[in-house]
Amino acid sequence: MLNVHSIETFATQDGPWIRLVIFLQGCMFRCKYCHNPDTIPVENERVMHRSEDDVLLRMRKEIEYFWKDWWVTFSWWEPLLQASALLPIVKKLKEEGFHVCIDTNWYVQTKEAREVLKLANLILPDIKHIDPIKHQELVGQSNENTLKTLDYLDEIKKPYWIRYVLVPWYTDDEKDLRKLWEYLQTRTSAERLEILPYHNLWVSKREKLKLNYPLKWVRAANSEDLKRAKGLLNEYSEIIYTRG
Ligand code: SF4
Repeated sequence: MLNVHSIETFATQDGPWIRLVIFLQGCMFRCKYCHNPDTIPVENERVMHRSEDDVLLRMRKEIEYFWKDWWVTFSWWEPLLQASALLPIVKKLKEEGFHVCIDTNWYVQTKEAREVLKLANLILPDIKHIDPIKHQELVGQSNENTLKTLDYLDEIKKPYWIRYVLVPWYTDDEKDLRKLWEYLQTRTSAERLEILPYHNLWVSKREKLKLNYPLKWVRAANSEDLKRAKGLLNEYSEIIYTRG
């Protein structure tokens, strides 16, 4: 049984083409800028429990109504926390010819999680910070597992698009951006780097949930920030894409 937070149709930001995105509950990170704190527990009162058959039925219906083909992404954070339940679903989807993306922060290192990564067509991993100490400070966990998973994806030759949230004062330091790109140069299956601008639209959401927002004072990343980051990274390569 999968614990599902929500489902989005016609998504264009979570992998190539237009996709159905299934957002799963559960995350082991505690990002200071988390915009979806309600998705962090694997269980809560709003969770929709969906069986393998429910998910497959939904996918087949989407095809029937909208498209000849359909693409699906399992997202938020962290889909691999439910890897045992996800594995048989991904297996079936692949057998039926679906294009499957896994949007992950890569922290889970179980056998099932690795199987899911092996089966999926494309992985969308986040690197929250390249510096281990700053990573720990920003999300409450080390980046060791994240980097280990990158090694695994290279080893199995699985293509991936990396995402990096550009947060002023936290993740935009020139040295860190250069270090990130130097690290990426050693990767063999990375196809793309997406820089996502941090925005603070969710301050009110956290206030509504009566949660502290440690980055309340941090401004949103603007077009100048993006241009600067892109300029620094482009000194190394052209495979970069900036959203926003
Ligand atoms: S990865 Fe960070 S931003 Fe995403 S749900 Fe987990 S804590 Fe929130």
